[in-house]
Amino acid sequence: MSANPVRLSAITAVEAFVPPPITFDPGEEPGEIFGENVFSLTVMQKRLPKTVYKSVLSTIEKSTPLDPDVADAIASAMKDWALEKGATHYAHVFYPLTGLTAEKHDSFLDPVGDGTAFASFSGKTLVQGEPDASSFPNGGLRNTFEARGYTGWDVMSPAYILENPNGNTLCIPTIFISMTGEALDHKTPVLRSQQAMAVHAKRVLQLFGHTDPENVVAYCGPEQEYFLIDSHFFLARPDLLNAGRTLFGAKPPKGQEFDDHYFGAIPSRVLGFMMDTERELFKLGIPAKTRHNEVAPGQFEVAPMFERANEASDHQQLLMTTFKAVAKKHGMECLFHEKPFEGVNGSGKHVNFSLGNSQLGSLLVPGDTPHDNAQFLVFCAAVIRAVHLYGGLLRVSVASASNDHRLGANEAPPAIISIFLGDQLADVFDQIAKGGATRSKEKGTLTIGVDTLPNLTKDPGDRNRTSPFAFTGNRFEFRAPGSNQTVAGPMVMINTIMAEALDYCASSLETAVAAGTDFNEAVQTLLAEIVANHGAVIFNGNGYSDEWPIEAEQRGLKNLRTTVDALPELISPEAIALFAKYGVFTEHEAHSRFEIGAEQYVLAVAVEANLTLEIGTTTILPSATRYQTELAQNVVALKAAGIEADASGLETISGHIAELRAGLAELTAAIGHEHPADPLAAATFMRDAVIPAMASVRAAADTLETLVADDLWPLPTYQEMLYIL
Ligand code: ADP
Ligand code: MG
Repeated sequence: MSANPVRLSAITAVEAFVPPPITFDPGEEPGEIFGENVFSLTVMQKRLPKTVYKSVLSTIEKSTPLDPDVADAIASAMKDWALEKGATHYAHVFYPLTGLTAEKHDSFLDPVGDGTAFASFSGKTLVQGEPDASSFPNGGLRNTFEARGYTGWDVMSPAYILENPNGNTLCIPTIFISMTGEALDHKTPVLRSQQAMAVHAKRVLQLFGHTDPENVVAYCGPEQEYFLIDSHFFLARPDLLNAGRTLFGAKPPKGQEFDDHYFGAIPSRVLGFMMDTERELFKLGIPAKTRHNEVAPGQFEVAPMFERANEASDHQQLLMTTFKAVAKKHGMECLFHEKPFEGVNGSGKHVNFSLGNSQLGSLLVPGDTPHDNAQFLVFCAAVIRAVHLYGGLLRVSVASASNDHRLGANEAPPAIISIFLGDQLADVFDQIAKGGATRSKEKGTLTIGVDTLPNLTKDPGDRNRTSPFAFTGNRFEFRAPGSNQTVAGPMVMINTIMAEALDYCASSLETAVAAGTDFNEAVQTLLAEIVANHGAVIFNGNGYSDEWPIEAEQRGLKNLRTTVDALPELISPEAIALFAKYGVFTEHEAHSRFEIGAEQYVLAVAVEANLTLEIGTTTILPSATRYQTELAQNVVALKAAGIEADASGLETISGHIAELRAGLAELTAAIGHEHPADPLAAATFMRDAVIPAMASVRAAADTLETLVADDLWPLPTYQEMLYIL
């Protein structure tokens, strides 16, 4: 078989590739390198005067404001540490609404007039920066002539050294706001929402007798799925290169039907990559823990240990950057797109979350003393209320053009937001609704009174992979986020809706107790009322079934299928009121995020549409017509030789070529059509006119791939990309 020269040379190069050696210092313990490049609390304790250290510790743990003198002392110690680590520059790192990471690098060296230079880095430069904000999306928050934007150090997320063969950089995690204090990034609302949630969580804890509880924080443990493919194939696919996903590609003869990849043996080349990434992550203080193959061929997963949400989201972004860089070193490309290959499982990022603090641990642990269980049930009921009332906000926090390919397909949680509690817990809430829980499915007696509450320490039943929001024993797992998304978006919504629900619970209990109601009775009443009003969101069945959307509709749950359907949730009157009440977004900020969401959607689809047109016209159509010519010449030659010619192959190919041309014409028209100026209308046009035209082109092209002679087909196939590593 003569393969196409482009593909053949890629395959030959993959075969010849020698992976780089992984050099571990002999006897090196993971513990030794862990956090080596982090200006951590331990480093601060060693290097800072006692009073300064105490003060920064109080800022981190008790959220007290940072004193400017303290900032100066920290900056000076941080600079010395960074210079010792070979840093030449420092950078404020922030997370603009493009979803990427932005850095503005400055040199430590300040040139002085006489040709000398000295290292300078004050508290003010540590705490505040001023990048030009005009090149970042702002959704109408700022005119371009008001370009000023500020970065501010997030003291709770430690500074670190990013190594590079060309010089190391001290990176300072920051927020990014406009001159008028409006958030232009993903981190600011995480911190604001965290603060709001903490206030009300504390009120609930106080009702349960914790007189002076520590600050409650949201914890987040993200599970990251990704694909690895060899760079030689990647570089021969302009769609992967420019859009992050394949816009063409027939299904491989061997798909994932065999279920032989999940938890299978990890290929040695990939294992080398994983070891290398883990080492880099450890140096940055990122606690990467589990690693395994995922469902699809070429797909893998990494799960770092959970951390405070703001730190976890910084680390998550850093993890993705590290994975991309290390993959290149190993001759591979790491794909975080939610759906790089059609017909093959996509990649998600499960956001495991809980609330708690070091004093009380996770507040979502059922526990085994009655007192703790009542408290747990209130926190759990708050989750039920929050998700029922504001499922639309969870949905919009995971909405993007690329994640639309996953949600609602039979591989990822559906676009309908429901909660899975597991049999045992669902049964307990069922009983509460009927007047009081008196028994547990597997354990003995339980009531919601003082004496005997449900003993839920046992793993409450099976897992449910089809639920978007599942209780998993000591936390909830939000399974809808896409692999490419920041966890900050979902965490902002979770914190905010939990702030509201906990506020509601605390107020209800406080009022009842003030009116002389017995506390346990008040708890029972509250729980029963929440189940009665919000129990419709609990669904333990199969979220992939055809019946669920129908039942969900009867229950009054929203089914927001696409990003375009979900975006208006951000600016509904209820959402605007909620954000304002808990100080997370002003109305202006909510609107700006809505607009940016629509703009990003339009941009993503437009890039794909242009690429589809280009590849369809300049690569696929020529290959197909060349083959058509070959077939035609064959028919002519046979006829000339007096042999009866079978022209059916030629007719088939000609039919699909005609379909391809029609698709390309439809797409050209859709792209050329005047696009509405209103961002949501423009996004709607993309969804309803441009995406279907792309689909027509692809359908014809994918059929042609199965018909055209292999040596005439230059795009690496799914088979090659997914199985040759
Ligand atoms: P599984 O495959 O069972 O989902 P993984 O080990 O793949 O489990 O990932 C579980 C993730 O959940 C990890 O990131 C882990 O740190 C995180 N996690 C565990 N406990 C908590 C908790 N209390 N709060 C938040 N995240 C948690
Ligand atoms: Mg997992």
